[in-house]
Amino acid sequence: MTASAESAERTPLEDRLISLIRANGPITVADYMSDALGHPHDGYYMARAPIGAEGDFTTAPEISQIFGELIGLWLLQTWTDMGAPGEFNLVELGPGRGVLMADVLRAAALRREFLDAAHLVLVETSGRLRHEQQTRLRGQSVKPTWADEFGEIPPGPLLIVANEFFDCLPIRQFERTANGWRERMVGLNDAGDSLAFTHHPTPPPPEIDLPPPGDTEVGAIIEICEPATELARAIAARLVEHGGHALIIDYGHYGAGAGDSLQAVRAHAYWPVLSAPGAADMTAHVNFEAIAKAAIEGGASAWPPLAQGAFLHRLGLAARLERLCAGKSAEAREALITGAHRISAPDEMGEVFKAMCISAPSLPPPPGFETP
Ligand code: SAH
Repeated sequence: MTASAESAERTPLEDRLISLIRANGPITVADYMSDALGHPHDGYYMARAPIGAEGDFTTAPEISQIFGELIGLWLLQTWTDMGAPGEFNLVELGPGRGVLMADVLRAAALRREFLDAAHLVLVETSGRLRHEQQTRLRGQSVKPTWADEFGEIPPGPLLIVANEFFDCLPIRQFERTANGWRERMVGLNDAGDSLAFTHHPTPPPPEIDLPPPGDTEVGAIIEICEPATELARAIAARLVEHGGHALIIDYGHYGAGAGDSLQAVRAHAYWPVLSAPGAADMTAHVNFEAIAKAAIEGGASAWPPLAQGAFLHRLGLAARLERLCAGKSAEAREALITGAHRISAPDEMGEVFKAMCISAPSLPPPPGFETP
């Protein structure tokens, strides 16, 4: 699409935000991201069918069945190591089209008792995606229930999986300007007819943890994801009380921040973040260190992230690939090998995506997270 076609496209959400900002002033990047993704009528996840080859972006479980199958085996092992509780909540945060869970349940069918013990809870806000999940999981012996948020999950031991979920939680951005730190805001351009970045006029409140301005260069950006740390704290509290693990896989970093990582993607290509909100996916890198810190403060253990490729290899990717390829046509083998490569090779998704785990404090490291 050309630049003029881009700017000519106006989404209903964009019009609504422009009127709102005209009346009340700029909004935070978090409020913008939250509306762009989750607005009840015009948010991206509500209004579109985003995921897969025909959608705007694809994810590891959509690329290779091995991803979900290995996670299914991981869940079986962690459940066994927890003493195989006769009832537990199997929770997926942001299940997309339900592909990961379908692969998990197929692999986990190796142990009938696991499926019998599982209460499957899918945490999903999008009605459209809930419908897809329901269709895909129809016929499974485990019947899913849905929750709008993590807090609704009933008591009991927990095994939680979240793939590419934390990256869509809204971030706030703070920029080191010539006058010190200022929150980056979404306001209007000079003509007042389109969205443009601006700064909050006054310094952020002291409870926002930012380095001394003297230690950073003008233009530096720090991102804070409050919903991610709140969720990590809530997960930790539940794991401390009831036992279990939370496996979190996402695009992100541990330690030094990524600067401005807010990005939009449409039709598998980058898209300007302030153009046509609601029509493009929007994500930010996950700060695994902040999640680990919040979980540890909440009394849980946090096993540091390792690269997705390394994690999948530790879980037996090569052996699973070999088994799947046995007896297949050359074409089917090629597709399986290509998929496995895309999810695990360092120059594909293997290195930038990371897996980390939050666990109840008394539990040994789950499979893949043992120190070698
Ligand atoms: N895990 C899937 C999909 C990732 S896309 C996969 O790997 O393919 C992100 C998913 O999270 C979508 O299902 C989206 O609707 C859901 N989602 C985004 N924000 C959410 C929120 N705040 N609460 C619940 N679900 C959310």
